[in-house]
Amino acid sequence: MKILISADMEGATGVTWPADVLPGTSQWERCRSMFTSDVNAAVQGFFDGGADEVLINEAHWTMRNLLLEQLDERAQMLTGRHKSLSMVEGVQHGDVDGIAFIGYHAGAGMEGVLAHTFLANSITGVWVNDVRASEGLLNAHVVAEYGVPVILVTGDDVACEDALGYAPEALKVAVKDHVSRYAAVCRTPARTAADIRAAAKEAATLAVRREPVDGGPFTVAVEFDAEHLAMAATVVPGVTRTGERKVAYTSGTMYDGIRTFKAVTTIASAAVEEQYG
Ligand SMILES: [Zn+2]
Repeated sequence: MKILISADMEGATGVTWPADVLPGTSQWERCRSMFTSDVNAAVQGFFDGGADEVLINEAHWTMRNLLLEQLDERAQMLTGRHKSLSMVEGVQHGDVDGIAFIGYHAGAGMEGVLAHTFLANSITGVWVNDVRASEGLLNAHVVAEYGVPVILVTGDDVACEDALGYAPEALKVAVKDHVSRYAAVCRTPARTAADIRAAAKEAATLAVRREPVDGGPFTVAVEFDAEHLAMAATVVPGVTRTGERKVAYTSGTMYDGIRTFKAVTTIASAAVEEQYG
């Protein structure tokens, strides 16, 4: 049994503030070990549950946050950026039986600690076939195309609630309770590690590959906080303007959908000016 862990940082234990997840800050340095603790707890739980192999794919920012030296030696970690499937890289080789979304968060425009979708700001909403989408939902569509079930989701309580929509069977662990976008009631790393480890052990029983899902076509709509970002995004082939601050495109698969989304966010972020956005 091989488990893939997609590890994002905004939903990690103790994290509530932009600097907590911004590489290079002293708070980020401090929060890295709590993020690593969450991931390591999942690794240990999956091995408790009978996994033979656990691969961690770093999925936050530059994708160089976790402390390799603090991880269980049975795990391997894919670190660094520029990967064809980004946050769920590694799922496409036909050897993964289940995936865990660790440290996930609510989507742009939703309630939730550090809620966003790909860009910290600039995007105010994403919809897939008219359903409001978080990164979890987008990635769940991608992994379903490879027949890999989402078996565990951790994050704040809102991220866990969001996961009920895209992975109803997955185990969920809320490591903190949302108060505002930048505030949460947090549980200690010792407590959350115990909770995550126990949930991962149980989640391992759900790690059974399924028939690949052909769920397309997917129409992805993206709303920005400024008009010029919508204009900039239409540079991407297939992306059309659907409103003053909105664009949309349709992809046959979410593999293509997520890659176009990456192009849209990269172009849009390049068009953001420091003062006016
Ligand atoms: Zn992140």
